[in-house]
Amino acid sequence: MPRPICATIHMGALKHNLERMRRAAEGRMLWAVVKANAYGHGLLRAMRAFKDADGLAMIDLCDAQAVREAGWSKRILLLEGFFDESDLPLLEKYDIETIIHNREMIQMLKAHAPYHSLKVHIKVNSGMNRLGFLPLEEKVIKEELIGIKGVQVMGVVTHFANAEPSYLSENPASVSKQLARMGRLAQADENVCMANSAATLWRHEVGGDAVRAGVALYGASPDDKISSKELDIIPAMTLSAKILAIQEVNKGEAIGYGSRFITKRPSRIAVVACGYADGYPRCAPDGTPTFVEGQIAPIAGSVSMDMLTIDVTDIKDAHIGSVVELWGKNVPINTVARACGTIGYELMCALALRVPVVEDEN
Ligand SMILES: *Cc1c(COP(=O)(O)O)cnc(C)c1O
Repeated sequence: MPRPICATIHMGALKHNLERMRRAAEGRMLWAVVKANAYGHGLLRAMRAFKDADGLAMIDLCDAQAVREAGWSKRILLLEGFFDESDLPLLEKYDIETIIHNREMIQMLKAHAPYHSLKVHIKVNSGMNRLGFLPLEEKVIKEELIGIKGVQVMGVVTHFANAEPSYLSENPASVSKQLARMGRLAQADENVCMANSAATLWRHEVGGDAVRAGVALYGASPDDKISSKELDIIPAMTLSAKILAIQEVNKGEAIGYGSRFITKRPSRIAVVACGYADGYPRCAPDGTPTFVEGQIAPIAGSVSMDMLTIDVTDIKDAHIGSVVELWGKNVPINTVARACGTIGYELMCALALRVPVVEDEN
């Protein structure tokens, strides 16, 4: 028997969330972002769940090849582009679209021309200052790209640093400031793709011809102050593990490494078969919620490599073999993430390889 831990991926939730984002996209083309193994949900599984998306957007050329070979016939976009000249023939062979974000990439394109049909998107830096050309350079870059035989310019892409409602509008890289920098490029006739999940859900002024939805497709709110329920999205990953031991301890006992948690009363402490080597964050403080036998049970003591401890003193039904939800429908992944000073995205992606994944149709 494997250890009693598993990540359940809910296919129905992925499909529901895709439809939800389709509505939010209001007629714009919808790229489903499947980078980082589909945010930990499994690349090919996500490909199946998102079969109604217009395209898949990702980072790795290997992943792009994998989805093509698995039968994905619609569009594919590489969000960071290619990294080496040797990638160029593969882009053509597999009909993979790429962003172009710097002049070195253009030199590589020129060195390998002509092409039969190589589809590129111009990445514009509208204020996030990570990748891309300045909005004013776009015209020249576009002409230069069009001048390369066989290169097809598909459109312009940019990315927002702060499209979540919780960010202040005075932020130096607010959506309105980034849109202003885009200027005419933000207009529809440029075939522009700007919105991530947050901008698709909350920033109707962003517009454009296409959106790139990631985290919301997996059922986590891009803004941890707004719940999945409020957004009508469903968590697609449940991480659960069973209780493998229960300790009845006196008041004043120390639990686990570093003796971080000291019992304030005679307590029942349940040991759960999930640790930081499974992707549960070691930095989770005492009080971080888990869910067992219909009730919330707080983390009590430091998370170990293969186990964690929760206080089930008030949960009489908790027993060896009880299933504990670490995150999922009852414990939002963003709640765990916030307690750890991070975001749900990071926890999803960090799900460890050793955790068995079970697919659920619902
Ligand atoms: C990851 C990513 C997205 C998706 O962002 P979410 O916040 O997960 O919706 C969109 N565009 C780019 C360029 C990305 O890297």
